[in-house]
Amino acid sequence: MPPNLKDRTYQDIPQQIGHRQTISQPTTVMLMTQALHVASGQKILEIGTGTGYQAAILARIVESKGKIITTEIIPELVKLAKKNLNKARIKNVKVIYCDGSKGYAKASPYDRIIATAACPDIPKPLIKQLKPNGILLAPVGPLHGQSMLQVTKLDKKNKTKIENLGGFIFVPLRGEHGYK
Ligand code: SAH
Repeated sequence: MPPNLKDRTYQDIPQQIGHRQTISQPTTVMLMTQALHVASGQKILEIGTGTGYQAAILARIVESKGKIITTEIIPELVKLAKKNLNKARIKNVKVIYCDGSKGYAKASPYDRIIATAACPDIPKPLIKQLKPNGILLAPVGPLHGQSMLQVTKLDKKNKTKIENLGGFIFVPLRGEHGYK
């Protein structure tokens, strides 16, 4: 929490993290973590590092043999997340400054992909970078309200099964596959 907002730490609300961005309320982080079906040893890609909080939670669940690659488009937040993860002594998270709307092909394929910014559509590169039986979780839809989609990749040919887990409002995804 930024020092001036410390008294809000235990409120179950989205919090301001600077640069006009917010971190989801803890309940949303919990729901997304649960819907991602994370297990020890997995390699996971996150789009939207923010504070590094969601990445930290995933890092604990995948344990030291697993790995989190998290991407962030605002350089100051890359710095903040690295600092936070260091302070928490979390070593299996790699924070990458890039346009995560294109995914991060270099480290693909992934067991799981989680987008923590609102996507206009399911970003195609993300499905491509998922392993068969992998799960992508992303809030998808117009800026004023999105549906949390749990997308399971069924085979190598990018065939998917999609479940709608309900309505949410996230900050917008930027970059090539973000909002124009
Ligand atoms: N998961 C974060 C909260 C994410 S808020 C946490 O635990 O704190 C959404 C974040 O997505 C913002 O930090 C925003 O800068 C970032 N973002 C938006 N578009 C992006 C893109 N194309 N690539 C990477 N990050 C992006």
